[in-house]
Amino acid sequence: MSVLGTESRPLRVAIVGAGPSGFYVADSLFRAKIPVVVDAFDRLPTPYGLLRGGVAPDHQQMKTVGKYYEKVALTPGFSFFGNVKVGQDLTVEELKLHYDAVVFTCGAETDRRLGIEGEDLPGSETATAFVGWYNGHPDHQAHSFDLNAERIVIIGQGNVAIDVARILAKTPAELKVSDITEHALHALAKSRVKEIVLVGRRGPVQSAFTELEIKELGELEDCDIFVNPADIELNAASQQELDEPSNNKARKNVAVLREFAPRPLHGKSKKIVVKYFASPVAILGNGKVESIVVEKNRLEGEAGNQKAVGTGETETLSCQMVLRSVGYKGVSIPGVPFEERKGVFPNQGGRITENGAVVPGLYCSGWIKRGPSGVLGSNKPDGAATVEALLADMAHLTPCVNPHTESVLSLLSSRHVAVVSFDDWKKLDAEELRRGVELGKPREKFTHIVDMLAFLGKPVSSEVAYVSK
Ligand SMILES: Cc1cc2nc3c(=O)[nH]c(=O)nc-3n(C[C@H](O)[C@H](O)[C@H](O)COP(=O)(O)OP(=O)(O)OC[C@H]3O[C@@H](n4cnc5c(N)ncnc54)[C@H](O)[C@@H]3O)c2cc1C
Repeated sequence: MSVLGTESRPLRVAIVGAGPSGFYVADSLFRAKIPVVVDAFDRLPTPYGLLRGGVAPDHQQMKTVGKYYEKVALTPGFSFFGNVKVGQDLTVEELKLHYDAVVFTCGAETDRRLGIEGEDLPGSETATAFVGWYNGHPDHQAHSFDLNAERIVIIGQGNVAIDVARILAKTPAELKVSDITEHALHALAKSRVKEIVLVGRRGPVQSAFTELEIKELGELEDCDIFVNPADIELNAASQQELDEPSNNKARKNVAVLREFAPRPLHGKSKKIVVKYFASPVAILGNGKVESIVVEKNRLEGEAGNQKAVGTGETETLSCQMVLRSVGYKGVSIPGVPFEERKGVFPNQGGRITENGAVVPGLYCSGWIKRGPSGVLGSNKPDGAATVEALLADMAHLTPCVNPHTESVLSLLSSRHVAVVSFDDWKKLDAEELRRGVELGKPREKFTHIVDMLAFLGKPVSSEVAYVSK
C-alpha cells in the first residue's frame, strides 16, 4: 500500500474554500516539510474570502495580509481552482476519490435570524448582504438598498455593525480612497441618511466591538457621535467586570465611550447614536419598514455572566431601514455532517464528526469549524491545530483511489465548469488595480462572475451568467 507523505506518494489534500483559513491550513501543511499536494477550491473565481468580501474597504492596511496568502499560493505543490462550488460542481464523494484528506474552510456565509415579527419586511436587511454589496461580492450585486432612508437602525454592536455604520456615515471623499465599488460609492453619495442607531442588548462593558473600531466613529468628517451619559453609569457587577485585570478590551472601550458621552453635537450632517440596554421586539410597517420596537433591558446576574432581561418597557423608533448584524452562520454542504443550530461542521479539534464519531479523512478549520468569531489572525493557530490532527492521522488515512488532479479537472471540464487558476486570478487582480489607478483608488473590483470569466476569455455558461454560485 502507498505510504502517504513520501516522494513516491505525496499526501493529497483538498481545501474547500480559499479564504484566510484555507491559506493558513495550506501554510501549515507546507511547513510540515513532507511531500504534499494542496488543491484549494473556491466557489468564486477570486481567492481570499472575507478578506476581499467582508473586511471594510476603508481598512486597506488590513488587506495587506493578502500578500502573505499569495506567498502561500505560489508555493510549489499549491493550486487554486476558482469558480468551483463543492457540493454543486464537484461532490464531496468525488473529492474523496481524488484526495486523501479534505479540509473544509468554507466560512460562515449566511446570517442568524432575530426571530421577530416584521423581520422580512422590505427595508429589513442583513449586514451580510450590505457588506457584500459595498465590497463587490458577486452574490449581493443584484440587491438594492433604499438609501433614501433618513434613519437606519443597526441591530448588533460587533465590529461588523460598526463597519456598516461607518460606511453609511462617511462622506464620498472619505470613501473615495477605499476600494468600495463605484456602484456603492455613487449610491451612498446620494444617500439621505441622517441618523444611524447602533442597538445593543447589554451595556458598554459588554460591548462586542473593539477599541480601534469604536474610536473611529468619533473621528468622522461629517458625522457626530452620541452616547447617552446615563448608559455609561455602571452597575456594581459591570464595574467588577471592568476592574477584572484581564478585561483590557472593556476598559479600552469604556474609556472611548466616556470620552464620547460629554461631547456636544457639532451640527454635522449625520449622527451615529450608540444605544445600549435595548432588544428588538418587532419591526413594523405597512409594506415596508417604518419603525422598530425595542424593549428596554436591565442587566441581571453575577459579574462575567450578566444577562439582558427585558423590563417590559418598550420604545418605538421610527426608521426606514433596519440592518441586522447579529452574526454570520455556516452553510451545509451535501455529504458533510452539519450542526444546524450553531451553523458549523461538528468536529473534535478539526476532525469532522458524525454523532460523536470521527469521519475519517474529513477536517475543518476557520469559521465553519468554530463559528463566526475572531479576527483574520485567529484562523492561523486554528489551521495549525487542524493540520496537526490531520498529520497525526496520516498513517491511518485510506489513500484515495485516483490520486490525480488532472482527473478532477477533466471531470470539471466535462461539466463545463470554467475553472479559474491562480495565474488567472493574478490577471483579474492586475486589471482591478489598473482600473483603480484610473479612478484614483486602490482597486476597482470585478463584481460579476460573468465579467471575470469574459475578461479571462473563458466560456460563460448560461447558468453562470444569470445565477450566482
Ligand atoms: C464584515 C466583516 C469584516 C471583518 N473585518 C475584519 C477586520 O477588519 N480584521 C480582521 O482581522 N478580521 C475581520 N473579519 C474577520 C475575518 O474576515 C474572518 O476571521 C475570516 O475571513 C474567516 O476566514 P474563513 O476562511 O474561515 O472564512 P471566509 O473568509 O468566509 O472564506 C470562506 C471561503 O470559502 C468559499 N466557499 C464557501 N462555500 C464554498 C463551497 N461550497 N465550495 C467552494 N468554496 C466555498 C467562499 O467563497 C470563501 O472564499 C471580518 C469579518 C466580517 C464578516
